[in-house]
Amino acid sequence: MAQCNNCKHSWSWSYSFKKLFTFKDEVYCPSCQSAQYVSKQARNHMSMVAMIPMLICFILIAFSVTTAIIITVEIIGYALVILVLPFFYKLSNEKEYFF
Ligand SMILES: [Zn+2]
Repeated sequence: MAQCNNCKHSWSWSYSFKKLFTFKDEVYCPSCQSAQYVSKQARNHMSMVAMIPMLICFILIAFSVTTAIIITVEIIGYALVILVLPFFYKLSNEKEYFF
């Protein structure tokens, strides 16, 4: 879970979750109000986790599983991804760029 680099306050799942879906680079610590940034490593991890349901989808298609089952699995898969993403949310004091 995310921890503030300034005051070491551990962010709650719900706060991380909310910040995750604002899609902003800059997020503010609920405890000390300092600006924090999503770390590059966390972004990499989160994008990898987000790809898991897609990979499962390809595997299911390869095994010619029926569409109804694939859709159900995908919905559950993405719901699980959304729920676990805050655990991969890590903060940095400085803005880190991908390139
Ligand atoms: Zn803080």
